[in-house]
Amino acid sequence: MSVYSFSQLQLFQQCPRKYQYKYVDQVKEKEFESSPDLILGQSVHKVLENLYNNVNVFKIPSLEDVMEDFHNTRNEEMEKATKEKPLQIKGQQTLEDYIRRGEHYVNAYYKKYSPFENVKVIATESMMHFQLDKDGQKKFRGVIDRIDKDGDTFIINDYKTNKNLPPEQKQEYIEQQTLYGLWIQQKYGKYLKNIKARLHYLHFDITDEREITDEVLAPIVEKYSSIIEWVEHKKFAYNMGNKRAFEPIQNEYCKYCEYMTICPLRAHMKYDDEVIWGELGEKTVKHLVDEYVQFSKQESESKAQKELLKDMLVEYLEKKWFLKLFGNTYKISASQWESISIKDKDLLLTKLQELGILNEALDIDRFKVQKLVKEWKLDTTKLDWSVEKKPSRTLRWSKL
Ligand code: SF4
Repeated sequence: MSVYSFSQLQLFQQCPRKYQYKYVDQVKEKEFESSPDLILGQSVHKVLENLYNNVNVFKIPSLEDVMEDFHNTRNEEMEKATKEKPLQIKGQQTLEDYIRRGEHYVNAYYKKYSPFENVKVIATESMMHFQLDKDGQKKFRGVIDRIDKDGDTFIINDYKTNKNLPPEQKQEYIEQQTLYGLWIQQKYGKYLKNIKARLHYLHFDITDEREITDEVLAPIVEKYSSIIEWVEHKKFAYNMGNKRAFEPIQNEYCKYCEYMTICPLRAHMKYDDEVIWGELGEKTVKHLVDEYVQFSKQESESKAQKELLKDMLVEYLEKKWFLKLFGNTYKISASQWESISIKDKDLLLTKLQELGILNEALDIDRFKVQKLVKEWKLDTTKLDWSVEKKPSRTLRWSKL
């Protein structure tokens, strides 16, 4: 079984097909491009790593030293990033804005935590490998920015330099740090039992702290264990020839996806129009798409229109106590019955059983069975001849 990282599993949750392209097929990605945000994040992380490595040997650098380290580190990162090609700056910010942001983060952080006297640093930028289950089948890896010992507690520190304050990604951060708490339990658990996770939002000077207890840990370990099982399951199916095992899921990041040109959800967008033949003669694909949607729209408009006509006719025939209405060409018969909804399923089952008509009322919903198959909860090969499989397609439309 593979060793998974948090970002890998996040990607799988976002879009299994993208995961397939990246980690299973290992489709070559566009050459890695650095960005001012990345350089800022890396520089600040490196400076804080250097700061705490010094603190750990009882050498407290001055604020001036740390600021100088920031500028040197940032220049080195910048040099590395622009060695091959110039840096792409998107948006309104200039490089000077990024430098000012970095200065502000480091300066404010230093002032907040100096003189760093009571800190016991266990590790900085620590690589971890750990297992989510007892028999070591589900393996995980990651990097922690810093681990401290504060009294009888281990603290997992994570620095964030983004300008957007969660909640958007907060759950993701919480889950990541909580899982890293499991590593601390496995590695250092014999020393101390208490673990806390601390997120430093440097842009806002906000520190978000939470305890990682067994109760917090258990559901998250369970969640990621089942995601790993899910990935392994799909990988197996894919390797056995099911090329659709990793389904594409449209999401807000599709427009930045580097696999857009091979993804079945986006690839056609870049195609030139093609002519195809069928019972309706020769048509271009673009024309067919638009025509299909026109018919679908007409269909739903006439359905709505039909419902309105029905309401008017029902109102009229109820008022007049008629059961049949006559037009010039057609006639309409009106039948009436009571529609029922189920309030207590168990009670209803008992009653139908008492009446001896349970089997007549029970029906297996094929859509529900289909959903079980789709969700990999039911393997159709285990159903013998009880079901028949036919290829089927649904076409849904939306505006470009
Ligand atoms: S374009 Fe969207 S759906 Fe396709 S692989 Fe990328 S993220 Fe997934």
